[in-house]
Amino acid sequence: MTADCIFCQIIAHEAPAEILYQDERVTAFQDIHPAAPIHILVVPNKHIPSINEASEEDAALLGHMQLIAQKIAKEQGIASRGYRLITNVGNEGGQVVYHLHLHLLGGKRLSFTRYI
Ligand code: 5GP
Ligand code: ZN
Repeated sequence: MTADCIFCQIIAHEAPAEILYQDERVTAFQDIHPAAPIHILVVPNKHIPSINEASEEDAALLGHMQLIAQKIAKEQGIASRGYRLITNVGNEGGQVVYHLHLHLLGGKRLSFTRYI
């Protein structure tokens, strides 16, 4: 837990969020400013600032995040229609919150050449 990290606060239920899924390793919640009809964030409970700071010991955790995103996509009814999983990394990657997260975006046809 990093005290000044908003996602750590959400994971610890110290800041409000609409949490859809939580286990001992990951938490998934609604993005506060949805960029698509479905926009959910899947985050590790461990504070990893970005994929740049992930290491071999996080490999299973990174895989678990992907599988939880898959599970939520199925629950949201978009698995067969299709969706997008995005991780922004660093300044030029458009990362704003420095706690690793997967954006699960869907519910509409997403552009091939743009972010959404
Ligand atoms: P990034 O640009 O870092 O990849 O994405 C950060 C995402 O977190 C954005 O889509 C933004 O809307 C979302 N976000 C930022 N602050 C909060 C918050 O306090 N609560 C929730 N639910 N989402 C947030
Ligand atoms: Zn954090």
